[in-house]
Amino acid sequence: MSHQSDSDFVTEIYPTLSEEARVRVDLAAAYHLIEHFQMSDSIYTHISARVPGDNEYFLINPYGTRFGEVKASQLVMIDLDGNVIDDPCNMGANPAGFTIHSAIHGARPDLKCALHTHTVAGVSIASTQTGILPINQWALQFYHGVSRHAYEGIALDLAERERLVKDLGPENKILILDNHGLMTMGNSVGEAFTLMFNLERVCKVQMGVLASGQPVNPVDSAVCDLTYQQYIQFAEMSQRGGFHVEWLAYLRLLEKVSPSYKE
Ligand SMILES: [Zn+2]
Repeated sequence: MSHQSDSDFVTEIYPTLSEEARVRVDLAAAYHLIEHFQMSDSIYTHISARVPGDNEYFLINPYGTRFGEVKASQLVMIDLDGNVIDDPCNMGANPAGFTIHSAIHGARPDLKCALHTHTVAGVSIASTQTGILPINQWALQFYHGVSRHAYEGIALDLAERERLVKDLGPENKILILDNHGLMTMGNSVGEAFTLMFNLERVCKVQMGVLASGQPVNPVDSAVCDLTYQQYIQFAEMSQRGGFHVEWLAYLRLLEKVSPSYKE
């Protein structure tokens, strides 16, 4: 089996060294991956990424495109007040998306990407009072660091931003939008995507466990804490050449199934 080196692959995927170009490629990839793994909701929900530099701009999908149609060069750039900076397809951005994502990018400059889904499993867990239960190894990645935000209707009221940011808090990267859906955030698009991929799987398992009606095997709280810390250490160990190896693996998948993302 021949295997292209990581550095050759990175050069192929990111042909320019511009930081903004790289963020665009990553963000478009995240849209395609969400569609590929069947986590999209028609043209709704949204993923945003902060534009590198001093301007408070972020990139989001043109409103009306399926996630698999998103291209790196066609993303909409908006500022924190909703002014459109660049919109190559003249399609605008989803107003509810603007409310949620401008709140996060305005309050948490440490977060480079915010990813929002409505999936059957995610909405199901977001509709329960207990939220994510620490009942298996996958779920223990989310033993700490998860916030919740009460439902207020479709997020069209800009005043909701203040409450959303307060609920998210200064450090967490996971936000359950009660009765609505899921959000993950990251220091990179790859981190936000990977967290969502894992969180979605946790929600699916939990729905299966609850549906089984069988008594749940509890995990000792000290083991829950240990496993959570192990997840953090493992993520640090998995960095190679400035990339998380899992993100590069996902990009290689897209090269096979949906390579138009980077156009
Ligand atoms: Zn939503």
